[in-house]
Amino acid sequence: MLGAGIIKGLAETARNFVGSYVVPERLITVPYPEQRLPAQENARNFPFLVYDGDDAAAGLRCVACQICEKECPPQCIYIVKDVVKKPDHTGKLQFQPKAFDIDLSVCMSCQICVEVCPFDAIKMDTEFELSTTDRFGGLLATKDQLSKPNTYYHQIHPGEARQVDEHLAAARARLEARTLSKPAGDAGSR
Ligand code: SF4
Ligand code: SF4
Repeated sequence: MLGAGIIKGLAETARNFVGSYVVPERLITVPYPEQRLPAQENARNFPFLVYDGDDAAAGLRCVACQICEKECPPQCIYIVKDVVKKPDHTGKLQFQPKAFDIDLSVCMSCQICVEVCPFDAIKMDTEFELSTTDRFGGLLATKDQLSKPNTYYHQIHPGEARQVDEHLAAARARLEARTLSKPAGDAGSR
């Protein structure tokens, strides 16, 4: 019948409008910004850098390999590598980025930087309230702004963060086992 779809839609709207006075679940709109729905685990917006421990400077997982910078399709990542290695949160000497900027006004949230990072150092954030009145640089996120603790990663993507922790712990255990199994005097021969 011509117009049956419109009648069906209007009937559904009327059902929810009247029903919402008696069944709270039918009230499906949220009065944002006074009320916010919690982000879904698979939500993603822009990338952030993960650090372990309490100190963002020492705990940053990023070793400035620049793979993400090369692979980012719109080229919105800018990295300057430190010239000397510094101890990470475990005391191991690592390179770190001296600068790590992402131009969020160019980023298209494709997640390729996350996929190519071999160190699980960059992940997708769910933060979306980023509007700014500063059109020159307001959306240029610096290393300090991008760095967030692993506890935050667990908060926004609990399942994924747990898997990453397990994977990193297993990789560390394999490395330790290999180091222990080397004959004495072999250490540092690589
Ligand atoms: S975020 Fe990952 S891929 Fe990008 S520079 Fe750091 S370690 Fe390399
Ligand atoms: S999400 Fe995509 S566009 Fe954004 S920084 Fe990563 S690779 Fe670049």
